Amino acid sequence: MDPVYEISGQIRQLAAGKDLSDPALAAIVSSSGQDGALACEADAARRRMYGTDVYLRGLIEISSYCRNNCYYCGLRAGNAKCLRYRLSEDEILECCDEGYNLGFRTFVLQGGEDPCQTDVFVCSVVSSIKKKYPDCAVTLSLGEKEYSSYKAFYESGADRYLLRHETADEAHYRKLHPDSMSLGRRKECLFSLKEIGYQVGSGFMVGSPYQTADNIVSDLRFLQKLSPDMIGIGPFIPHHATPFSNFNSGSAQQTVRLVSVLRLMFPYALIPATTSLATIGEKYREKALLSGANVIMPNLTPLKVRKKYELYNRKLVSSLESAQAVSELEKMLERIGYRAVSSRGDVKRG
Ligand code: SAH
Ligand code: SF4
Repeated sequence: MDPVYEISGQIRQLAAGKDLSDPALAAIVSSSGQDGALACEADAARRRMYGTDVYLRGLIEISSYCRNNCYYCGLRAGNAKCLRYRLSEDEILECCDEGYNLGFRTFVLQGGEDPCQTDVFVCSVVSSIKKKYPDCAVTLSLGEKEYSSYKAFYESGADRYLLRHETADEAHYRKLHPDSMSLGRRKECLFSLKEIGYQVGSGFMVGSPYQTADNIVSDLRFLQKLSPDMIGIGPFIPHHATPFSNFNSGSAQQTVRLVSVLRLMFPYALIPATTSLATIGEKYREKALLSGANVIMPNLTPLKVRKKYELYNRKLVSSLESAQAVSELEKMLERIGYRAVSSRGDVKRG
């Protein structure tokens, strides 16, 4: 049978909410031949669920200290050249003030696993933000913590938690992380977060070293089990001071294709057009939005420390990747047929 026709039928099946076999998913993930059809179906699915709304999240990178040593990340503890900083509660609140005035109603506090950032500190920051801005959602992305810590953050008012699983395949996980880290623990954290009541986000890098199409199928299967509210994917981008400095970046085209696949498999999900995708090329941010993504996370981190939060090489980082440029983003969205909305933008599940 003509392979192009074969895949088209499968895209129709995906769009109708039917599951595909592993080999069929692997074929879709690997081939660019049907990208147009995939994007078209995915955009129709996002419009059915979310219309033309795009939610803006203000990203605040609260600490560049990290105790972990993920091989791909510039913040890894082993990177002696990484410049470290930690924002104070007042500095974080100032970022929120700025973000609120710009129209953001979700603040995402992200950071390395900073051993000096105590639960008491995180709880205090979360409750101060919620007290000052009760109409805003607070999302945390601070890595793996004890169940009791996650619970304390939640009880202080945190609404959502982002923790990408990174790869659902054990052998692949071992190629990306040192022995001190564990995929089982990562997955356990995700299920704990759900149980506590958070809106949970997970996801993975596209084109990370040694990743295969079968690995990506495992990622999709894991996401089906977890059923997260938010799914973030972005291309791997090498960082010059990591063990993976010589690997190539992941493909932006494949990332956009996967955004479409995710939209069809998880029509209800909040799916960002990520910074790493825009770092490869500004046009890919727009492509992701036209292919099923419905969230953007502009950066609210104070300019004086922003360069220090270097997960990956940022040579191509765009001028739009800043909360201050929000009016430019709004214009871009209008031009491609969407609109930025100033609301919490909670998940819509049927
Ligand atoms: N420490 C937390 C949050 C900060 S890292 C955590 O690990 O969950 C946030 C995300 O950045 C990670 O989940 C990872 O997927 C992504 N990231 C790290 N290094 C990257 C790289 N070199 N290229 C692309 N994405 C990267
Ligand atoms: Fe730390 Fe997160 Fe980077 Fe891993 S990905 S080294 S946990 S900041």
